[in-house]
Amino acid sequence: MGNKVVKFGGSSLADANQFVKVANIIKSDSRRKYVVPSAPGKRFSDDIKVTDMLYTCAELAGSGVDFTEAFDKIIERYNGIIKDLNLDFSLDKDFEEIKAELKSRPAKDFSASRGEYLNGKLLAEYLGFEFVDAGDIIVFDTNGNLMLDETVKRTRERLSKCENAVIPGFYGKTTEGIVKTFSRGGSDVTGSIVARAVNADIYENWTDVSGFLVADPRIVENPDVISIITYKELRELSYMGATVLHEDAIFPVREAGIPINIKNTNRPEDDGTMIVSDDHDFDDESAHHTITGIAGRKGFSVINIEKAMMNSEKGFGMKVLKVLYENGLSFEHMPSGIDTMSVILDTATFRPVEDKIIAQLRRDVKPDHLETEHGIALLAIVGRRMKNTRGTVARLFASLAHARINVKMVDQGSSELNVIVGVNESDLSEAIRRIYDMFVNSEKN
Ligand code: ASP
Repeated sequence: MGNKVVKFGGSSLADANQFVKVANIIKSDSRRKYVVPSAPGKRFSDDIKVTDMLYTCAELAGSGVDFTEAFDKIIERYNGIIKDLNLDFSLDKDFEEIKAELKSRPAKDFSASRGEYLNGKLLAEYLGFEFVDAGDIIVFDTNGNLMLDETVKRTRERLSKCENAVIPGFYGKTTEGIVKTFSRGGSDVTGSIVARAVNADIYENWTDVSGFLVADPRIVENPDVISIITYKELRELSYMGATVLHEDAIFPVREAGIPINIKNTNRPEDDGTMIVSDDHDFDDESAHHTITGIAGRKGFSVINIEKAMMNSEKGFGMKVLKVLYENGLSFEHMPSGIDTMSVILDTATFRPVEDKIIAQLRRDVKPDHLETEHGIALLAIVGRRMKNTRGTVARLFASLAHARINVKMVDQGSSELNVIVGVNESDLSEAIRRIYDMFVNSEKN
């Protein structure tokens, strides 16, 4: 019998009611042996996540201010869950130890990590599973970088001794024994590492949505759920701002060929989204759309450079990129014509050095014409099936042309996995809606 690693996000464990759902999910499949919880998240929209409360405590403690009141609110959250679950269990000793540690050494990462630590202990008690402290198995070097091989080795060894275990997400320890967290949302990464270490059949990531959506629900009403997506497609969509999973959660399982299933704790019967390897064999999906997803992001600027005979001038592109490099900028895209080249940059990093870059470009590449434009949005249509489907780009442009949306730039990735289009920021939402209509709604009829 294989096994599954199951990670539950903060909203899945925000109160006792959610704990009951989580336990039902785990107990309904005996392969769900290793559980990675986040700290309790928001119960309602203006609630505060326990992790944020712990960051506040560390800040107060760090400035020598009494943090008792702030910490009492955290105690209340856990004790509320313990009481509502009727558990004969107490975290009082841990609360005292954490408070004492914060008073003597108010470290931010240590404080934040205690949300998962306490929740892990509580969930282990409730499920009757063993508690395995992530600090003993997740290892960082002294610069704070994850030591993946060592971590996998320790995790494998430790978990081989447990039938079932709860391993808190989000943190580990450096080789010097200092608690260190991943960046926010990092329990996803812990889950992925554990899945790799135990060679899981699948990594289930339980959250409060039924998977990735084809488009942003704030733009498209009730968009379809993506049933299967490859790691590469996911990377393209995440770049464009579609977020459900921490970016660093991909590589540990991807390398081991373990699929990730995004599932909804509040609707466990939904299939969710399956994230699979890039060489997955897709036979039976004739029912799906041509594209997998659409995403868009605002906040880009373009430098348009024009110079006659640019194509035959040796080192032209290099000179342009050198100017960017010397100013510490990376570029996002670089579509070019015969005598024109455009460089797309992130506006927030470009603005502060804009004048300097323009002056340098005028001096170094001597363009016939140079202009910059701000307020550009990029949108991407992503899909592994586009490669073998004719007319995709024609349909894309037809949908935008009918809406009178001006296309400012086009870039088709060499793998034909995506087409990126630049439009004015004010056109972004309408563009996404039109493309959704063209590729999703109309393909249903
Ligand atoms: N609790 C942490 C956060 O709020 C980590 C996580 O939930 O994955 O960012």
